[in-house]
Amino acid sequence: MICWKPFFRRSLLNDLLLQRVLKDARGRVAKKLRISVTDRCNFACLFCMPDKRTVKWIPQNNFLNFDEIARVVRVLASLGIEKIRITGGEPLLRLNLESLVRTLTGIDGIREVDMTTNGWHLAEKAESLKRAGLKGVTVSLHSLRRDRFRQISGIDALPRVLKGIDAARDSGLSPVKINTVAMKGYNDDEVIELVEFARERNISIRFIEFMPLDGLGHWSPDKLLTGKEIADLVGRHYILHPLGREKGDTATLWGFEDGRGELGVITPMSEPFCDDCDRIRLTSDGKLLSCLFDSRYNDLKKLLRESSTDEQLEKYIMECVYRKPAGVAYMPWVRDGWTKPRAMYAIGG
Ligand code: SAM
Ligand code: SF4
Repeated sequence: MICWKPFFRRSLLNDLLLQRVLKDARGRVAKKLRISVTDRCNFACLFCMPDKRTVKWIPQNNFLNFDEIARVVRVLASLGIEKIRITGGEPLLRLNLESLVRTLTGIDGIREVDMTTNGWHLAEKAESLKRAGLKGVTVSLHSLRRDRFRQISGIDALPRVLKGIDAARDSGLSPVKINTVAMKGYNDDEVIELVEFARERNISIRFIEFMPLDGLGHWSPDKLLTGKEIADLVGRHYILHPLGREKGDTATLWGFEDGRGELGVITPMSEPFCDDCDRIRLTSDGKLLSCLFDSRYNDLKKLLRESSTDEQLEKYIMECVYRKPAGVAYMPWVRDGWTKPRAMYAIGG
């Protein structure tokens, strides 16, 4: 029997190369890019960072410089990328990040540049980031109790992070959101306090399901607090209005009856959202990942430093995106606790 599959696959890829679209073999179109600007971090969150004494950091001379990042973004924007999230490691450890933000916001086709940060440097940086064109900021906050914050994030930084959140709001960055990794036995008794904290500031809080990625190896199925459990818990305290999940977004949202704040749950473990994923990732050392769970580390740095043309970069990127894996929804072994080739702090969450 003749097998037509490879033929159809190849001709589909050729069509996409002609159309100049970032579409994968399952028809998902990439619109958003997460850029990790460093793998370094001054925190050591137990779900993210392994024992720092054992970490093999990416050598700094392997980091893409800002001109290289901007070039990749120009190429990606010409292929349909519209939104960028800067992340890390801790992105605000990278010096003069404002200049990168200014360049990226000026690129044709880029509608929005946002950032995810641990908040340590936010109080002193919020205004300059806003002036540089940053739109919104998501601050990770896993506890409102000082001791517990230190236990989870490995640093006594709660007061400083809280100042950072307020400075971000005062500077006009918008939206300001909070990310909380929800873990049974660590912070599950604080869900309502954290929700109330966000509502007092009229900002959105998103609880992320604890993923068995890296960190200190504390993950186990019984520590997973699911999005449904969180929504049920919050629903017992407030009247919630379901807002659903927008196509391509990671968070399923609810509004509150009085209109203050917003609840979101991000459910990569219990209800993965891979089927309409529109994100790709660029690591600090120039690897393009079409999925958080991609084990192919497509090396853009090599092409950039070998003076490839934009056309060569485009073709390579389109081929990488075309081969995007189906996602965690179709990789049950990941959800059972899988060690990735590279840790979260080095990919960019
Ligand atoms: N350092 C910044 C921060 O903490 O916000 C940005 C990088 S961090 C890797 C990005 C996001 O991934 C954070 O909100 C963090 O809480 C989340 N994250 C890290 N490890 C995770 C895990 N194992 N499960 C769920 N979320 C995780
Ligand atoms: Fe650092 Fe963010 Fe990872 Fe925490 S989650 S260790 S702040 S990169």
